[in-house]
Amino acid sequence: MTITSFHPPRRTLMGPGPSDVSDRVLQAMARPTVGHLDPSFVGMMDETKQLLQYVFQTQNELTFAVSAPGSAGMECCFANLIERGDKVIVCQNGVFGGRMKENVERCGGIAVMVQDDWGTAVDPVKVEEALIAHADACLLAFVHAETSTGAQSDAKTLVGLAHKYDCLTIVDAVTSLAGTPLKVDEWGIDAIYSGSQKCLSASPGLSPVSFNQRAADKIQNRTSKVQSWFLDLNLVMGYWGGEGKRAYHHTAPVNCLYGLHESLVIVQEEGLENSWARHHKNHLALRDGLEQLGINFIVPEQDRLPQLNAVTIPEGVDDALVRTRLLNEHDLEIGAGLGSLAGKVWRIGLMGHASSQKNVDFCLNALKLVL
Ligand SMILES: *Cc1c(COP(=O)(O)O)cnc(C)c1O
Repeated sequence: MTITSFHPPRRTLMGPGPSDVSDRVLQAMARPTVGHLDPSFVGMMDETKQLLQYVFQTQNELTFAVSAPGSAGMECCFANLIERGDKVIVCQNGVFGGRMKENVERCGGIAVMVQDDWGTAVDPVKVEEALIAHADACLLAFVHAETSTGAQSDAKTLVGLAHKYDCLTIVDAVTSLAGTPLKVDEWGIDAIYSGSQKCLSASPGLSPVSFNQRAADKIQNRTSKVQSWFLDLNLVMGYWGGEGKRAYHHTAPVNCLYGLHESLVIVQEEGLENSWARHHKNHLALRDGLEQLGINFIVPEQDRLPQLNAVTIPEGVDDALVRTRLLNEHDLEIGAGLGSLAGKVWRIGLMGHASSQKNVDFCLNALKLVL
């Protein structure tokens, strides 16, 4: 048997991620691999850091991309900021809040859960009650854009509450970054992680993160070593931070970083505010078209994410069959429901490069034909 080269089909990716990667980003990834300590590559990493500071809207020195997907950025935040016995208030209104709890506990922390219904935003009143009831908590963790439900939470208010009660914050911005307003410095977010494959439309495999001085101080003042060698920020920073004196820590995924760099250049060219506005505009167009088909959103209007549209599967419709036909007949991927929403919703992504009027029309037409 001879196995030959793999040629994937060309799909339109309108699920919960990865989103469509533009030819421009794919071409950037096809450029020659250089050594990861090559001066030209180090220069590109410095630019990537500046571009990440721009999309996060932060001056944080400790801003870089973890060499692994969003889940590793999540782990990086929790592993570095939590020491054994630390109490962490974790908000859960979907799948990813549950993963935060798992992270807290694996780091030896104690998770205090604040639960909200799936499809709703995190309730700041409940968060304040938890902060008052647990005065010994040192961290508040929540998901800004819950990809499993399409709900957006009020990050600015939640961070303000955490600080009022002397807690630092860990924010999941995997799906929000570049798709919906997010201002790390203005809102005072202490630690944040994202992913390359959602609204940045780079290939999966990198997790932009950023830590402010308060978070960096907590990490530097740890009494115990970070249990993960790979994610220990004290070591990683020697690699990303060292202004020309870059030391070997691990081999960066060189071509993947070319792609992230190009995707960030594209956001910079468009302008971050324009990117947010485009996501909003295309969401409204999709909403209007879906409503005409009698398909309704599960999230109340004011809390909807423009980049992730979770809608109820119409009565009597075969969920898996529709998604299979969209894929086979239209090369269109939309997302299934996750967790307690499995079989009940579809998740239609309009993320990054995939957020266009053309894709809105394409998706609505394909759905019409299949239904
Ligand atoms: C996709 C996603 C993650 C996980 O990112 P991976 O790149 O799949 O590891 C975490 N949180 C949220 C909100 C996400 O949407």
